[in-house]
Amino acid sequence: MFDSNSINSKTGLVFNIQRFSIHDGPGMRTTVFLKGCPLRCGWCSNPESWHNYPEIWVFNIRCNKCGKCVDNCHKGAITLTENGISIDRNNCDLCFDCVNVCPTLAIEKIGSFLTVNEIMEQVNKDIIFYENSGGGVTVSGGEPLYQPAFLLALLKSCKEKGLHTTLDTSGYSPWDNINECLHYLDLVLIDVKSLDPSIHYKHTGVSNELILDNINKITGRVKTWLRVPVIPGVNTSESQIKDLADFAIKLSSEKLCLLPLHHWGKSKYTRLGRKYLFDGVQTFEKEYLLKCKGRIESYGLKVEIVE
Ligand code: SF4
Ligand code: SF4
Repeated sequence: MFDSNSINSKTGLVFNIQRFSIHDGPGMRTTVFLKGCPLRCGWCSNPESWHNYPEIWVFNIRCNKCGKCVDNCHKGAITLTENGISIDRNNCDLCFDCVNVCPTLAIEKIGSFLTVNEIMEQVNKDIIFYENSGGGVTVSGGEPLYQPAFLLALLKSCKEKGLHTTLDTSGYSPWDNINECLHYLDLVLIDVKSLDPSIHYKHTGVSNELILDNINKITGRVKTWLRVPVIPGVNTSESQIKDLADFAIKLSSEKLCLLPLHHWGKSKYTRLGRKYLFDGVQTFEKEYLLKCKGRIESYGLKVEIVE
């Protein structure tokens, strides 16, 4: 079972390391995704990142209904169904025995405890690509600042190698944790989901007060790119876009990135046994996004659509 002491400056909980990333900062990057996030954005495309402990997800398409997981679950939490298996997650204690006995990888464990050195071994393989493209390492999540000591140690290690470092954050973290990391960062990608406190709370589960305060402090210290998820019904009215542009202008952020809603993460919710709240919500046409981009650019801001 999960032991919170497993996360410290030497060991962190990682759910993915993505090589050759091109949307998480300049050049070609290695993006390290830390698991655990205090926000619950309804449109999130990485719901496997939410909990700060390892968990399981199910690919029923791979299940051959052999029943080995059912026989080996000491909690009796697994049932065979017509479509594969079903897990009673309230009864599951995450022992991972089912993962170990499944012959088809239909049940997978999400999240591994890795040391800074283990991550740097991966990073070292990509240094040649950073040199040629002006890239580096991005730490993302989840919310990477949810594991502040580990994040700091990882950034320090990158800087010891002279690598370009980027933090991709929601900004929802005590200032002291951010402040320490800024010494080892070249760029911060920071989300602005909504400037309206009640809308922000409704769709993310937390207030935006701390986030906006942190954004103001960060932009004076390190280069930033503001990242705005473009979500129908949440933050796309005329007045919201105008307020956003005004906010970004005051901050003199280098760039504003628009991240249009997509439903690529939908199947992940099924695998995790959760409900996807934005199922069926209409996504925007390219034409509309270009119009938004043009409108914000007319205020003198550099805007990029990230798809
Ligand atoms: S993780 Fe353990 S308790 Fe949970 S379903 Fe698998 S075998 Fe059962
Ligand atoms: S062990 Fe794997 S393949 Fe067999 S029933 Fe369970 S999930 Fe399906």
